[in-house]
Amino acid sequence: MQLLASYLSGSWSQGQGPRASLVNPATEAPIAEVATQGHDLAAAFAHARSAGRRELAQLTFAQRGALLASLAKAIHGAREELIALAVANGGNTRGDAKFDIDGGAVTLSHYAELGAKLGAARILGDGEPIQIGRTARLIGQHIWTARHGVAIHINAFNFPGWGLCEKLAPALLAGMPVISKPATATAMVAHRMVELFAPLLPPGVLQLLVGPAGTLLDHTGPGDVVAFTGGSTTARTLRAHERMIAHSVRLNIEADSLNAAILGPDVDLASETGALFLADVVRDMTQKTGQKCTAIRRVLVPAGTEAAVFDVLRERLGGIVIGDPANETVRMGPLATAQQLRDVREGIARLASETEAVFGGTGEVTPVGVPAGKGYFVGPVVRTTPTPLECAALNDHEVFGPVTTVGPYANDAALAAQFIARGEGCLVSSAYSDDRDWVASFVGQAAPWLGRLYLGSAKMAAQSPGPGTVLPSLTHGGPGRAGGGEELGGVRGLHGYMQRTALQGDATVIKSLLA
Ligand code: NAP
Repeated sequence: MQLLASYLSGSWSQGQGPRASLVNPATEAPIAEVATQGHDLAAAFAHARSAGRRELAQLTFAQRGALLASLAKAIHGAREELIALAVANGGNTRGDAKFDIDGGAVTLSHYAELGAKLGAARILGDGEPIQIGRTARLIGQHIWTARHGVAIHINAFNFPGWGLCEKLAPALLAGMPVISKPATATAMVAHRMVELFAPLLPPGVLQLLVGPAGTLLDHTGPGDVVAFTGGSTTARTLRAHERMIAHSVRLNIEADSLNAAILGPDVDLASETGALFLADVVRDMTQKTGQKCTAIRRVLVPAGTEAAVFDVLRERLGGIVIGDPANETVRMGPLATAQQLRDVREGIARLASETEAVFGGTGEVTPVGVPAGKGYFVGPVVRTTPTPLECAALNDHEVFGPVTTVGPYANDAALAAQFIARGEGCLVSSAYSDDRDWVASFVGQAAPWLGRLYLGSAKMAAQSPGPGTVLPSLTHGGPGRAGGGEELGGVRGLHGYMQRTALQGDATVIKSLLA
């Protein structure tokens, strides 16, 4: 049995103490272990603060970008091996695994290209010079420099590959050394990626902690950044951490999200826009077995169209083969962990107390290619409620699995926006309409509740990746329940790892800094 090692202070160490098992969620067979104690985290922080910071400070944006390009290349070179790990340890189908792993490589490449564009600089300018004196001699200029600390990355179980890369790329390009902690249950992909990355990076620039966080946050200090993706309960613990509060450690949180999809009143289901809406709902329910932070959980359709929508969902979801993703016919694998299965079943039961069944009952399923009684499987579940705005089970609890609930509305853009707002802050939501007046009215009211808003229409349907795909060029994060954080978004993603300073002084001196 492989005992996964952490990469800390320049060497691989397996830790000590009790061990946690990593399993194949389709069969429940143990496939690796991690030790839960015994790492010298103080030394790891010191290594990042000295060697890691020094090495990055010497590099220009272009040189850091070149490092990121080499990491993307390393992923491409080991793609099949990484996909196999994601299938075995994450319950991913091959398609799910590619979504995670290729998504990581794409994000690294995006930031590699951004580094090349930013060139030989180490400081970023922010806006134009501002005359603040009597003459143009005295100016103000905002600048961004790398924060003087360590970026601590804590990731969720669902995207071990992409999660590692989407946080690593902007942090390294900004100039901050990273300590990355994947979720324990699905750590194998991130572990292998760091095995590939470590020889390509200068000392101290990237470290990996596998296993529980332990005292990780007790070592944080004033210049550090903690970027967290996971559940809102853990997020609350991080927010309340004494050291994080005492040192104003910057904290970015990506947490729960009750993303919605709205079908506009003008849309015929047989149209391109209608087809896009249906394809997006089905994809988001089943891709990664619904374990995407961006997946559609709540659906609003014009009153009177519910039956037609249900017919299509029943037909498409009924054709999806569920089972061990190692079996090539399988289109949807298990949930990632036993805890996930308990949580999703609990979530379905809560929904069942307030909604009607449309498809999939409470998620019971007989998976193919799996020993009887084994695996963390749940089938796709569609529920419905006649009163979607009032339904607490729908609007107050994220069910992190292949579950969605559909309700009707009276075509009004204001009502659709109120439905979005009932999620109390989402990473993303989508609206499908070719009526520009309806869209304009909806966007103004819904956008403040959303980190990203996807506008589905006939003209873009052929090239759309769907609302569930996070792009490195656009920001990822959302207000309220979604954690209030923001990552990615091209150069904006660097700002989370940099300090903005307002310079005041002689125009020629300041301009020379940014030349
Ligand atoms: P989680 O239990 O909150 O764990 C997330 C990460 O936090 C894991 O790496 C976990 O480590 C770590 N962690 C747990 N307790 C900690 C502590 N006291 N200090 C520091 N780190 C700690 O979340 P999860 O089970 O991975 O995912 C569950 C939920 O996350 C989902 O239900 C979903 O709502 C949300 N989620 C949100 C997004 C997003 O982008 N917004 C993405 C994915 C998931 P261990 O694994 O070692 O416990």
